[in-house]
Amino acid sequence: MQLDKILQTQGFGTRKECRKLVRDGEVKIAGVVAVDPFAEYDENGFTFELNDWEWEYSEKVYIALHKPVGYECSHKPKHNECVYDLLPDPLVLRNVQSVGRLDVDTTGLLLFSDDGQFIHAISSAKRQVTKSYRATTNQPVEDAQIEALLSGVKLYDDNEPIHALQARKTGDKEIELVIDHGQYHLVKRMIAAAGNHVDALHRFGVGGLSLEDGTLPELELEDWCYLRPKHL
Ligand code: URA
Repeated sequence: MQLDKILQTQGFGTRKECRKLVRDGEVKIAGVVAVDPFAEYDENGFTFELNDWEWEYSEKVYIALHKPVGYECSHKPKHNECVYDLLPDPLVLRNVQSVGRLDVDTTGLLLFSDDGQFIHAISSAKRQVTKSYRATTNQPVEDAQIEALLSGVKLYDDNEPIHALQARKTGDKEIELVIDHGQYHLVKRMIAAAGNHVDALHRFGVGGLSLEDGTLPELELEDWCYLRPKHL
């Protein structure tokens, strides 16, 4: 593929803008400044340096972010920071979307992609991809609350009780739970229905990916990384 086209597909602007980036000497390939925007490269495994970063060509892109508090999973948040501002511009220009959402005050693992099928597969209720959360509660956790979460709690907008696949008390005021649903404020509402209140919520896992077991590189708050095929 031509260099200007490679850059365009990776979110660096129009073909014309990408040709200018090359002519301005901004692109390095294997440590050497590229001069010819029309040069042909095999895009598979192709890497280049631009904006102080080494990029790797990919037809679709998959990202994991450690979301901090205060960021909204929306392109145009009204009252908070925008979670997309935590990603570099070229990824946003590629039109990555978050895979589901986390509340503004929830921290943890948030995936992004420009692959609609992947987003659908992870978010779809049918696929039952698990999500693992750690909730800090404002009242001591009682055994009965854990039992209620496991056997099913009734939410006002759901006819059927909804239950956690796993729930356990991990501290005086801490619960870890695994669910395979993704409705709005679900964990907070489930814990409220079980008789407690969530003060802080952290998602540490989605499917087989975890921020805590080495399946992903170590990500501090606000850090992101590419997901490799081995992760997906
Ligand atoms: N459940 C919630 O209540 N909030 C989140 O951010 C995610 C799941």
